[in-house]
Amino acid sequence: MVQPCIITVAITGSLPRKENNPAVPIRVSEQIESTHEAYEAGAALVHVHVRNDDQSTTSDPDKFAAFLDGVREYCPDIIVQFSTGGRSGTGSERSGMLQLRPDMASLTTGSCNFPSSIYENSPALIRRLAETMNEYGVRPEIEVFDLAMLYNAAGYLDEGLLSGPLHVQFVLGIKHALPARRDILEFEVAKLAQLMPDATWVAAGVGRYQLDVNRWSLEMGGHCRTGLEDNVRWDKSRLAASNAELVARVADLCGDYGRTVATPAEARAILDLQDRSAGSPW
Ligand code: ZN
Repeated sequence: MVQPCIITVAITGSLPRKENNPAVPIRVSEQIESTHEAYEAGAALVHVHVRNDDQSTTSDPDKFAAFLDGVREYCPDIIVQFSTGGRSGTGSERSGMLQLRPDMASLTTGSCNFPSSIYENSPALIRRLAETMNEYGVRPEIEVFDLAMLYNAAGYLDEGLLSGPLHVQFVLGIKHALPARRDILEFEVAKLAQLMPDATWVAAGVGRYQLDVNRWSLEMGGHCRTGLEDNVRWDKSRLAASNAELVARVADLCGDYGRTVATPAEARAILDLQDRSAGSPW
C-alpha cells in the first residue's frame, strides 16, 4: 500500500548563504512563523537549526527551547526535529538541546567531505549522541550522506544502540558527497529494504536538485524534504518566497504520483511517534 507522503520542511540551514534569501528565517520568532505557514501548507515535520541574530551558527539550548514552545503553541501536532549537525557546534554542544525532548533529532552515522570542510562524526560522538537520544526518548532520523552511513546504522541497530523501525534520510547533491542521481537513490533504497525492511525513508536533494529528488521520492514511495535550508531558489529565475511556498509545491505534486499529503497525525503513526494531538502532556 502506498503511504501518505510526510513532507519535512527544513526551514533554516546552518550556513550563511552566499546568495542570501531574505525569506530564510533567522530569529526564533521568524522561525516559528515560518514553521506555522509551512504547517498550513502541508508540512508534518520541521527540521531546525537555530542561529544567532547576526546569522552566525549556534547550538544555544535556550533558542531551541523558545522555538519548541512557540511551535507547540501554534502547530501543536507538528513533529519537531532538532539538528545535531556538525555546523551547530562541536562535541557535547551538539547534544545540549536533546534534554528538551523534541520528537526527533538528526543523527549522522559517519563522516564525509562537504564542499569546503569535513563533516566529522567520530564513532565515539555518534555513540554519545545516540545514547543521549535514547536517554531522553528522542527518535533519531538517520542522515545518510554516503553509503557507509547506511551500513553503520544497520550495525548500530544490530547491537541495540539504535532501535527500529528507523527513519532514514538520504541526502543527495552535496559537493564531495553523493551526487543527485536517481540510480544512486534507487540503490540506496534497495539496500535499505534488504537491511531494514521495516524502515521508512525520505530523501533530500540539495540546491537545484531539490525538486527532482522530491519527484523521485514520491514515485518510489518515500517521503519528501524541502525547505530553505537545502535550496533558496524557486527556479533559475527567482528566489523562493518562503518555506511554505516550497512545501506547497511538494503538496501539489503528491497527486501526480497517487500520493496524499500526510497529516501530522498520519505522520506520527507512520513514524511510530507519540500522538500529540489528543492533548497528551508535553
Ligand atoms: Zn539540517
